[in-house]
Amino acid sequence: MNVFALTCLDLAREMDRRYGKGLHHASALYREIFKKGNSAFTDAPEFLESPALGGRLAVDVRLPFCRIVSLQEDGVLKFASALFDDQIIESVIIPANGRTTLCVSSQVGCRMGCRFCTTGEMGLVRNLSAEEIVWQVYAARFTLGHRIDNVVFMGMGEPLDNFDNLMQAVRVLSDQRGLDIALSHITVSTAGHADGLRSLRRWPPKSRGAELAKAAPGSLAQRRGQRPSRYPHADQPQVPTRQTQRGAPKLSACTGRCGLH
Ligand code: SF4
Repeated sequence: MNVFALTCLDLAREMDRRYGKGLHHASALYREIFKKGNSAFTDAPEFLESPALGGRLAVDVRLPFCRIVSLQEDGVLKFASALFDDQIIESVIIPANGRTTLCVSSQVGCRMGCRFCTTGEMGLVRNLSAEEIVWQVYAARFTLGHRIDNVVFMGMGEPLDNFDNLMQAVRVLSDQRGLDIALSHITVSTAGHADGLRSLRRWPPKSRGAELAKAAPGSLAQRRGQRPSRYPHADQPQVPTRQTQRGAPKLSACTGRCGLH
């Protein structure tokens, strides 16, 4: 059971299906992992009272196979993480004005090809899963011990190119029973991924879409120094000027990375 990719309600449904247990036990598991950073969650009172359930959870719950492999401090704290397949991603903890922002990666590499960016030169290697995105916040909070107030998707990758995993990660990050980062404190930075922007307008279903402004054709890519031919969507000039959707993170235009590249 991949808790890092599930909201607490998702987890309750899964625990009902597997064990006939519901929100009470799902909330306890969620609290231990995401509020306390307790990977030995079966020592929680709810599971000591139900040792059979605790035993099954100890076997079934899968925590992300990610590890921090380097740290670099220079006003900000940059950390690199190795994923299950030894791919490396980077994240940056940025303290400012009494608040702490975490810049997270959404892909290994990137297909957008912005000229100023070394990640773009890698091309896209693969998307991060929702659990790998959430893990970066968990690691900053519990492994490195920083309270995280804001999350910005401005690390490696174009987040809207990994839309489904991005939005599932946003659901998990903003779950009040867990990491509890308000949607108004989560910002998705995009170089102008047209398909992703269209998907965001429909998310969540039945919500009102972001307001879009049309720029002159090609101007967005040119302003950002992109190579338009490498990815056709980068040429499509729709950029949100104001995010009006309820239940969606904020959007910003990509003007550079969090000191990663
Ligand atoms: S700046 Fe962002 S969108 Fe552009 S190539 Fe780099 S990671 Fe991709």
